[in-house]
Amino acid sequence: MAPTTTTLPTATPNAASGPSWASLAEQLNLSTHGAVLGPAHPGYAEAARAFNLATEHRPDLILRAETVDDVVAAVRLAAGNGLSVAVQATGHGAAATGSGTILICTNRLGSVSIDPVARTATVGAGTVWQQVLDAAAPYGLAGLSGSAPGVGVVGYTVGGGLGPIARTFAFAADHVRALQVLTARGELLAVDADRDPDRFWAISGGGG
Ligand SMILES: Cc1cc2nc3c(=O)[nH]c(=O)nc-3n(C[C@H](O)[C@H](O)[C@H](O)COP(=O)(O)OP(=O)(O)OC[C@H]3O[C@@H](n4cnc5c(N)ncnc54)[C@H](O)[C@@H]3O)c2cc1C
Repeated sequence: MAPTTTTLPTATPNAASGPSWASLAEQLNLSTHGAVLGPAHPGYAEAARAFNLATEHRPDLILRAETVDDVVAAVRLAAGNGLSVAVQATGHGAAATGSGTILICTNRLGSVSIDPVARTATVGAGTVWQQVLDAAAPYGLAGLSGSAPGVGVVGYTVGGGLGPIARTFAFAADHVRALQVLTARGELLAVDADRDPDRFWAISGGGG
């Protein structure tokens, strides 16, 4: 259960029928560890703020995810009620979130584990490149980061990832080995070139 409660919005997401935002927030609050924030909550503005200040998020609910299960719960709730979800790791991207949406903030899901033999890094959804560089450097390794170490690894990589050493090593997306993917229906999948080749191809940029 979430450690904090929220001041709840009163509007109804689907005007004709369905639960109110207050009731959706209550449900989410009961099934997650992370804080669930409505627009009237004092923490809402800070949680919604993107690195890119030209971007203004105005979701109806924010979940500050603390675990992968939190993210799964939010996506399943949205799917079950015909709502949109959006994801923010750092807010370096410029995609604003509007109403009718649950914004899932992943910045508390930063984690890095380096396998120096396989020369791979396994990262959580909220990891930024500086964390990977710091963890890899003791092994004489480095990630294929971009020009700014505060950018999120996942957003950067699924967007292609064109860094200063890309002329030598290509796009970061070309080096992805495996992904944990949560579908819009809320199914958590292990995706790699053998187990789910089409999905792996598409999420890694389709080679284009
Ligand atoms: C200062 C700066 C320097 C940059 N330098 C480079 C560079 O050198 N090379 C380069 O290629 N790009 C660069 N970029 C672009 C950057 O890679 C993209 O904006 C990237 O999408 C940012 O990812 P983020 O997670 O940090 O940002 P966010 O705004 O949090 O996310 C960006 C997008 O990715 C999605 N996303 C993030 N995490 C997930 C997830 N776990 N699951 C699903 N969707 C997710 C978000 O929903 C959003 O649409 C730079 C951007 C800035 C602002």
